[in-house]
Amino acid sequence: MNAPILQSYLAGQWFGSEPAQALLDASSGAVIAHTHAGQGDFEAALHHARTAGVRGLLALDFQQRAGALKALAKYLSEHKETLYEWSLYTGATRNDGWIDIEGGIGTLFAYASMAAQELPAGNVVHEGPVVPLGKQGHFAGSHILVPREGVAVHIDAFNFPVWGLLEKFAPSFLAGMPCIAKPATATSYLTWALVRLMLDSGLLPEGCLQLVVGSTGDLLDRLQGQDAVTFTGSAATAAKLRANPALLARGVPFNAEADSLNSAILAPDVEQGDAEFELFAREVVREMRVKAGQKCTAIRRILVPRRHLDALTANLGAKLGALRIGDPRLPEVQMGPLASKDQQRDVGEALARLRACCNTVFDGSVQTSWAGVGAEQGAFFAPTLLSCARPADVAAVHDVEVFGPVSTLMPYDDLDQALALAARGQGSLVATLATRDPQTAAFAVRRAAVHHGRILVLDEQAAKESTGHGSPLPALKHGGPGRAGGGEELGGMRAVKHYLQRAAVQGSPTMLAAVVGEYVRGARRIETEVHPFRRHFEELQVGESLLTHRRTVTEADIVNFGCLSGDHFYMHFDDIAARQSPFGQRIAHGYFVLSAAAGLFVSPAPGPVLANYGLDTLRFVKPVRIGDTIQARLTCKRKIDRRKTDAQGRGQGVVAWDVEVRNQEDELVASYDILTLVAKHDEGTS
Ligand code: NDP
Repeated sequence: MNAPILQSYLAGQWFGSEPAQALLDASSGAVIAHTHAGQGDFEAALHHARTAGVRGLLALDFQQRAGALKALAKYLSEHKETLYEWSLYTGATRNDGWIDIEGGIGTLFAYASMAAQELPAGNVVHEGPVVPLGKQGHFAGSHILVPREGVAVHIDAFNFPVWGLLEKFAPSFLAGMPCIAKPATATSYLTWALVRLMLDSGLLPEGCLQLVVGSTGDLLDRLQGQDAVTFTGSAATAAKLRANPALLARGVPFNAEADSLNSAILAPDVEQGDAEFELFAREVVREMRVKAGQKCTAIRRILVPRRHLDALTANLGAKLGALRIGDPRLPEVQMGPLASKDQQRDVGEALARLRACCNTVFDGSVQTSWAGVGAEQGAFFAPTLLSCARPADVAAVHDVEVFGPVSTLMPYDDLDQALALAARGQGSLVATLATRDPQTAAFAVRRAAVHHGRILVLDEQAAKESTGHGSPLPALKHGGPGRAGGGEELGGMRAVKHYLQRAAVQGSPTMLAAVVGEYVRGARRIETEVHPFRRHFEELQVGESLLTHRRTVTEADIVNFGCLSGDHFYMHFDDIAARQSPFGQRIAHGYFVLSAAAGLFVSPAPGPVLANYGLDTLRFVKPVRIGDTIQARLTCKRKIDRRKTDAQGRGQGVVAWDVEVRNQEDELVASYDILTLVAKHDEGTS
């Protein structure tokens, strides 16, 4: 193969034509690429991102960026085989590559879909609620989130060259922040191939994605308060970069996800014949095998009741002994080499430190021959299982991370001791608790949550669908306290908010409504002769409102509604019990009030309102009694254009309506938002 020079992509141009460091195939040691010599102009790169990048991204709104992200995910899916080819050089099997490549693309899909559901149109997120700040409703406050208009520098580790960038790119892109990606040098060829695909897709605005191959030079020193750094890698590098004087002086947010000594606890209630015992053993071996243990989330410490130590050791040894290790190109191979010779050396050194204080109970190197290749050229490492008899007395087993297929068994005597040992990791990304007992789960998770970013409770039921100990998921937080870096990634829209600036806003309801882009109670309303349900999506204005006619609630209403719905609750039908209740008399069903309000505000003839698909924030604020007269106010609260069309290609948008139902004293009795789909006028052109 002709080993290419990996160029950086800075300020809209590919940079670097002279070779520098040779990068090697993890299995064969063959040179597969070179980094480039020389360093790009980082000031120009930052300027490009802050001008062209920000401009291009903010020409789109949240919904449009969600659409672009989805299109990008589709494009990468169609071109993923290119990535798989490069992935083999990292030592990843097809399975390992799947986690990195399809895991990354899946994260883009997940973020695109969550954003389409949860983010508004426009570039302002209203983070409610609106808080009244005056007694008469003239002054209120709320919070908004806006794009930071800076640059996100994403620094990644060598072990997930695709997922690592995409899981950071998705939320920052949605937030409207251009990024500069800095992959770890050892596997930068795979991220380079990914970035080339992303740029070739033509789906990304100019300046929103740049790539640094090799050193970041003075890039971090040039960052400003609007920028952000996200880092994945070793705790030592995290500590060094976090302390960069420019970042500290300018208050640049620094999110770190660093190595941690994650644990798995086999709870005391589990017996050897239980399904959970075997599930636990499989989980441990999977975490040692996948990516040859080079995962920040891998299980490094196995906490086992003392009475099960021998049985579990034998079980794990048998499974590890059956693993087929070798060239990841061979279909039968389950575990490939480490990513580089440097890693092989580091893992060997770290293992030697642990061996000095532990027994080796399974040593794969004794019996393993690597399938398809000679061990000398590649970065192979045999799976190794250690056992530490007195883990409470040995600091190294909680401190030395062996970033490879190595894990240490630690016996414990009771659950308190197991939890104390888990906490000795000083903050971890994830822990697994295998238990059959819900009480044990409730007790242990509460305690373990103090020290872990995520906890998998593994039992027979969960195992049927479990995504496993080691897999961070787009919708759930990834990151742990303390040694694990103290950062947070993923976690649904929380991750997007890390790249948005939050501001409190105070003013009149009318001004707040204009700022947040949605109707706020007390704001100026728009009332016309036209019923708002007769308006197409484009014509409808936020604040357009309808005050309905009135309706007096009768006993017949209650009886009819009870018969229709089958709801004969005493409060509506038992006069004696109702008189003894806090309300002192029979009251109407809350759902009758809701239905009656719909009857008051609906415009029945066919029109642009296509469907009512739910309601939010429903509160029955006060009871409605027989003889009370209710009236509804319907106001267009929020419009979201998801650029969706129906099966016939007709455009439609989402409209949320604020509904207030009041009684004859003008007291609020029910309050909620209803959600509708509303047709666009220019059908098919969306
Ligand atoms: P490092 O912490 O050395 O590197 C992580 C990233 O930081 C790489 O992109 C690296 O680039 C970059 N980097 C290093 N120094 C600087 C600097 N001064 N300025 C800017 N960027 C810098 O981790 P490695 O990837 O080398 O892995 C080493 C160890 O880290 C592993 O053995 C393991 O223990 C741990 N690790 C933890 C991970 C986690 O997810 N928590 C993941 C991977 C590793 P470059 O490669 O060019 O040096």
